[in-house]
Amino acid sequence: MRDPAVNRGRVRPIVARAMILLCVLPVGVALAGSGASTGATARRTVSWAARTMGTYVRVTVATDDSAAMSPEADRALAVFRRVDSLMSNWTATSEVARINREAAGAPTRIEPEVGVVLEASLRLWRESRGAFDITVEPLVRAWGFLGGPRRVPSDDEIRAALARVGAQRIHYDPPTRTLRFDDPGVRIDLGGIAKGYAVDVAAESLKVHGVSDALVDLSGNMVALGRPPGAGGWRIGIRDPRDRIPYLARLAITGQAISTSGQYEQFVARDGRSYGHIIDPRTGRPSEGLISVTVVSPSAMECDGWDTPLFVMGPVEARRKARQLDHVAGVLIEPGAGGVDTMWVEETLRDRLVLEPAARSFIRVRYF
Ligand code: ADP
Ligand code: MG
Repeated sequence: MRDPAVNRGRVRPIVARAMILLCVLPVGVALAGSGASTGATARRTVSWAARTMGTYVRVTVATDDSAAMSPEADRALAVFRRVDSLMSNWTATSEVARINREAAGAPTRIEPEVGVVLEASLRLWRESRGAFDITVEPLVRAWGFLGGPRRVPSDDEIRAALARVGAQRIHYDPPTRTLRFDDPGVRIDLGGIAKGYAVDVAAESLKVHGVSDALVDLSGNMVALGRPPGAGGWRIGIRDPRDRIPYLARLAITGQAISTSGQYEQFVARDGRSYGHIIDPRTGRPSEGLISVTVVSPSAMECDGWDTPLFVMGPVEARRKARQLDHVAGVLIEPGAGGVDTMWVEETLRDRLVLEPAARSFIRVRYF
């Protein structure tokens, strides 16, 4: 059954040539022209879209039998509804909301999937020396990025929120799956990593059901399985954070994950400055220094997890960290003077990244 009402939780198949998909995707990272959609094999790409986790998700499958793929796409899309109901910070009924209410009173037992994301978050907190910190919630809220109007908080408000931030205040015991907060003011926000987790689980669901060539895209958090018809990989566009052209460059991805976090996604603008929704947990202020971070790695959770702290670290430290991490490769965009920005591309991605000809006048590419 096909139901066009995407936003009522049903899914809608969209049969489209890959080039057409490029035009309709309103996203940070997008599928950018992946070759012929028909050919000797009669395989083509078919997409199913839905609204979820405060954004959109699109599952694209290369197949010669789209009807047979529909239940697989449905199963993959159901993953996002489940993860949202566990990890959303926008509702009082999620598991994370319950944890935030209860974990300071007494140790509380948490759902296994939240445990997986929590363990990864605490590892990232250590590996990023605090640049990634899920206890950043009071700050994210103070800046208006968790509901209410976007705003620039006063120094006193920032100080008060900072006093409640720091992952050393949360204690997770994996064997018993219990979590405890040291302080009643502590809150967690999985918004910097939960999307990546959901994309990994959805892609795994496709894979175990025999789908070998597919792209799962949750607002720029993607897993690319196999390849589209007639191409060596899924070509993913890196969006221009300043919107001069749709995409600055394309990266060919196969059997890997990719995510982009950009200043353009959500921001507060005041006094000629724009403040992004990624907050430096050490200063309490939105990070500055980079306007876009793309991460390629084997897992979408690693990509989504790392894009946030690399942003916080800024251009120099982020290059050092990305180089140091074997499983993480980065593309960082640093704003420059005179309207010319620098795209820092990690050496391991050199052969796979193609700069759009139209970007040459305002992007200079440097490798690290
Ligand atoms: P999105 O795809 O929603 O843009 P990102 O991966 O860019 O997600 O993460 C941004 C979100 O992460 C913010 O909306 C906030 O919920 C959370 N966040 C902000 N700063 C940090 C931080 N320093 N560490 C961990 N999470 C953060
Ligand atoms: Mg992230």
